[in-house]
Amino acid sequence: MKASLPMNTRQAVASMRGLYGKPRRLPEHWRDRLPDPDAYYRARIPSLGKAHGNGWAQGRCPFHDDGTASLSVNLAHGGWKCFAGCGGGDLVGFHVRVSGLPFTDAVRDLLGVRA
Ligand SMILES: [Zn+2]
Repeated sequence: MKASLPMNTRQAVASMRGLYGKPRRLPEHWRDRLPDPDAYYRARIPSLGKAHGNGWAQGRCPFHDDGTASLSVNLAHGGWKCFAGCGGGDLVGFHVRVSGLPFTDAVRDLLGVRA
């Protein structure tokens, strides 16, 4: 008797299709069509201060109960980091986390593409 092997990627994708329906495709060059980080973060972090010369600005982190300004966001390239331990990443990662949407849906949301 053959031991059962873990699913390979193709099987995993097929099984996810079964669960969630057809995967939605992202438009071509979607990374070029992401919102301006400055506008994006200012709309979501009311406490965001002025950017320093290096492009980083500080504000209150939406991922924990932040009494100070633990969150740094880069208004030029969109990167973020919470110095209280919430992690960091790029603008898409921030949106995934703040919206609770799966990656593809979060990108579509950022692009303004209807689900
Ligand atoms: Zn945080």
